[in-house]
Amino acid sequence: MIKTQGYAATDANKPLGPFQFERREPREKEVLIEITHCGVCHSDIHQARNEWGKSIFPMVPGHEIIGKVTRVGPNVSKFKAGDLVGVGCLVDSCRSCGSCKEGLEQYCEKGLIGTYNSYEKDGKTPTYGGYSNCIVVHEDFTLKIPENLDPAKAAPLLCAGITTYSPLRHFGVKAGQKVGVMGLGGLGHMGVKLAHAMGAHVVVFTTSPAKVEDAKRLGANEVVISKDAAAMAKHNNTFDFILNTISAPIDINPYLELLKREGTMCVVGVAPTPPTVETAKLIFKRRNLAGSLIGGLPETQEMLDFCGKHNITCDIEVIPIQKINEAYERTIKSDVKYRFVIDMKSLKQDF
Ligand code: NAP
Ligand code: ZN
Ligand code: ZN
Repeated sequence: MIKTQGYAATDANKPLGPFQFERREPREKEVLIEITHCGVCHSDIHQARNEWGKSIFPMVPGHEIIGKVTRVGPNVSKFKAGDLVGVGCLVDSCRSCGSCKEGLEQYCEKGLIGTYNSYEKDGKTPTYGGYSNCIVVHEDFTLKIPENLDPAKAAPLLCAGITTYSPLRHFGVKAGQKVGVMGLGGLGHMGVKLAHAMGAHVVVFTTSPAKVEDAKRLGANEVVISKDAAAMAKHNNTFDFILNTISAPIDINPYLELLKREGTMCVVGVAPTPPTVETAKLIFKRRNLAGSLIGGLPETQEMLDFCGKHNITCDIEVIPIQKINEAYERTIKSDVKYRFVIDMKSLKQDF
């Protein structure tokens, strides 16, 4: 077994703190990764605080993992020691259902195995995530990171990047289309960069006036302060696609009105309580309301390669792990530009 150091939440109401645990030695097709950086996703906060009601404690969060392969199991063929790799939200799935066969492991019909807050296939061994110094993962769930990308800035691609890339691709966003991004946080800022790189006309909807200039620098053509009802209404019936990344409960109905006939709003933000939908807003314009969950392994690699080619990374604030609880509070206040990334070297101070 491998002695592992990390940070864990032991209860929904307690701050995260140092936690020691063991990982297994890499089996046949598994790689051992020394984690250098891990992004802080709002989903980490929802789960550490049990806002979705399904938390397993102690919990080591973290699913935006970047590191170097240090050791490989005897039958690994895709990676070798020294490779720069990433791990996202999934570490396994059934691999035999229709979704898995299509490379849509996130929709595994037997249930995906999450990087943390989940159980291994044996149904009883908890998975522990990336707020730790190493992880052991099957090579099929390990991703290659383009070498031209800064590892710290690439970490959030593993969740924020793929969660926004996948719906933009699935719903066929094309050059010249008008695309809205609701919420300029970790996911939202990647949605802006990616939709811009795909050639869309991007409009950001934000509650934070202090983010307007940044939004334009990130690739937005227009920015709307969403609390201004008149400014919102000016865009009624004009959007092909809107990506909703907001983490809090909001009224989505004024945003549905922004969609053209047959336009689509895809929800990726998982607010603790669901919105009320005025279905007439859908019916009278044949509009679509959809959802999307992260992305499968092939598409995650495609997204990483796309980001490598277009030199797209995340705007980050690097923190030592000792600041994680403060980072959670600031993320909840939308006070992060635009993703916290933990420098895992800092773990040594606690052990
Ligand atoms: P984040 O960095 O905290 O960003 C969320 C943004 O939502 C904030 O920056 C803020 O944008 C906006 N917002 C927050 N509270 C609001 C309120 N009360 N009213 C209106 N807007 C508000 O979070 P994130 O990491 O991007 O994650 C966003 C959501 O996606 C979370 O719920 C997360 O769990 C979920 N998620 C889903 C998937 C998936 O697969 N579907 C994957 C990852 C994450 P402004 O300051 O611009 O207003
Ligand atoms: Zn995430
Ligand atoms: Zn499956």
